[in-house]
Amino acid sequence: MSSLAAVDIEDGVRLSSYTSWQTGGVADHLALPKTIEGLRAAVAWACEHGLSITVLGGGTNVLVSDAGIRGLTIGLKHMTGSSVVVDDGRLIIECLAGTSKSELLKIFLKHKLQPALFLAGLPGDVGGGIVMNAGVGEKITPREFVEITDWVEVLRWTQNGDSEIVRFRCQDLQWRYRHCQGWEPGILVRAGLSWPMQVVPEILTIVRQANLTRAQKQPLDMPSCGSVFINPPGHTSGRLIESAGLKGYTVGGAKVSEKHANFIVNFSKATSADIDAVIKHVQKVVLETSGVQLKTEVVYLGQW
Ligand SMILES: Cc1cc2nc3c(=O)[nH]c(=O)nc-3n(C[C@H](O)[C@H](O)[C@H](O)COP(=O)(O)OP(=O)(O)OC[C@H]3O[C@@H](n4cnc5c(N)ncnc54)[C@H](O)[C@@H]3O)c2cc1C
Repeated sequence: MSSLAAVDIEDGVRLSSYTSWQTGGVADHLALPKTIEGLRAAVAWACEHGLSITVLGGGTNVLVSDAGIRGLTIGLKHMTGSSVVVDDGRLIIECLAGTSKSELLKIFLKHKLQPALFLAGLPGDVGGGIVMNAGVGEKITPREFVEITDWVEVLRWTQNGDSEIVRFRCQDLQWRYRHCQGWEPGILVRAGLSWPMQVVPEILTIVRQANLTRAQKQPLDMPSCGSVFINPPGHTSGRLIESAGLKGYTVGGAKVSEKHANFIVNFSKATSADIDAVIKHVQKVVLETSGVQLKTEVVYLGQW
């Protein structure tokens, strides 16, 4: 363990406790900064030691290799905090990247605003939500992060560890289905979000109903990372996988959920290799049966 002024860096940390699939090997080094100063110190430390940097948000959309991650892994889930003001008829929120989506949901719910609905049931952090342009399939407004994001701030650094924060406006970034780019390289550290103050009095009831529907359709009682595959144009991955007869397909402790075919669940001490084997098999069989190449939404991290 290295104790710097603003952050501790632990050696040899098992990452399964930091991923929603509860799999993944050991990070050579792990830093969990609580502030941007702590993050800067961790980045400078990695540069000083010539190490690569890997970022984890809430860990709800990543498959971390069983061989772990070399270099420094930086987890942002403790870098939290938000401020809220109403200005010119809009609710304006500024938050650090590690602020959980559930915290954001609470803010919108408190003000009875519509973004609460798409945020309901979305796990992970705000930073991860923006990087993935997380959202829901239902045709509601808003339904993705792009619609509520005004700007993001990104920490960038040079090889000698000097860092600066660069701001991008929403319209300067390229957003598409489950992806946002144009902010890289760097680490997203803060975001500005907003929505008009158009009160939806019954929003709490609507959110509760949406949560019930999710719980009925998704295997939320088992570790997963939500939908594994991006929906190809004109298709839903879940239906393609189900039509290929793959529900329940199992490798080791990982299987295609019987409840929702686009979920792969860790039902019994799965390894990341088990999950990867299920992913590869599903891709192969769906290609053979329907001619569609499924692409993963999930991001692979570490040594594969
Ligand atoms: C039960 C369940 C249900 C889900 N349902 C949905 C859903 O309905 N819709 C949906 O879109 N997703 C869903 N997901 C997937 C996931 O929650 C989202 O993609 C989420 O936005 C990922 O956020 P995260 O903080 O966990 O990111 P992580 O999984 O930690 O990271 C995702 C990627 O972003 C990078 N990253 C994260 N934070 C930063 C940062 N601050 N700066 C730079 N890079 C960063 C990581 O390196 C990684 O490449 C679900 C997951 C689960 C487990």
